[in-house]
Amino acid sequence: MELPATAEIVEVAPRDGLQDEPPLPLSERTELLRLLARAGLRRIEFASFVHPRWIPSLADADELARMRPLAPGVVWSALVPNGKGLERALRAGVDEVTIVVSASDAHNRANLNRTTAESLAGVPELARRARAAGVRVRGAVATAFGCPFEGAVPYGRVADVALVYAEAGADEIVLADTIGVGHPRQVAELADYLRERVGPDVRLALHLHDRRGFALANVLAGLLCGIRVFDAAVTGVGGCPYAPGAPGNVATESVVSFLASMGVETGVDPDRLREAGSYLAERLALARGAAHEIRAGTGGRAARATGKESGTV
Ligand code: MG
Repeated sequence: MELPATAEIVEVAPRDGLQDEPPLPLSERTELLRLLARAGLRRIEFASFVHPRWIPSLADADELARMRPLAPGVVWSALVPNGKGLERALRAGVDEVTIVVSASDAHNRANLNRTTAESLAGVPELARRARAAGVRVRGAVATAFGCPFEGAVPYGRVADVALVYAEAGADEIVLADTIGVGHPRQVAELADYLRERVGPDVRLALHLHDRRGFALANVLAGLLCGIRVFDAAVTGVGGCPYAPGAPGNVATESVVSFLASMGVETGVDPDRLREAGSYLAERLALARGAAHEIRAGTGGRAARATGKESGTV
């Protein structure tokens, strides 16, 4: 079996993991970032520069960005749903931004309140502004493996989005299995298809959510077809507020140990990673308990705002 010597993990718990959870105080999100960096994670998606009305748990991205000196050597990556978010991210001095567009219209409308074509029209300008500021650009294709509203998504729709990113000069194209329905054959076929349509040197990454253990099989399929970058979230926390039933992200602990067992180095220390995971699990348990008490006191689950420009993936 031909495997690479190294692979890279993009830790997304502070963004994807927390977006559908009760808000954690800024001090706890800062401590989580410090612990993740200490574990050896070198790319961390620390926030989304989204209006707090849509995702209250991810408020204060600007303040969080000021904590960068706590994690030297780490690429501070952030999701930006639109031009306003990009402006804030650039002012905050992030190293990398993720732009997101769904391959399926229905999810793009739920997530960004626009059609896929409308979102794509804005991509070149977003990418140009980021690159002019010296910031790396990830282009994420949400629902690349299936959509909670439309079901199967043809590879051609994924390639249409990927082509726009490639032409806009994106450094990396992230294939996101937003709802965890992808399987290894799909990973291999989609990677082949994109190399044909977009170009043989397109740099791909996988953003996996885990349903019934498929995610690790998809990591292996990705490795075997030349993918070297994997998004993952410590403790497997996560979901998508605008994709009903989305399972959590593939757990960073699982990916690190899966890769290490096959001799693929990630640079992550499993013991320190476990410490970061324990910290997150403990703080989230307390926050969920408090949120439950508040809901019980007001007679039911608080209503969620419907998605407008939330930009999740
Ligand atoms: Mg996700």
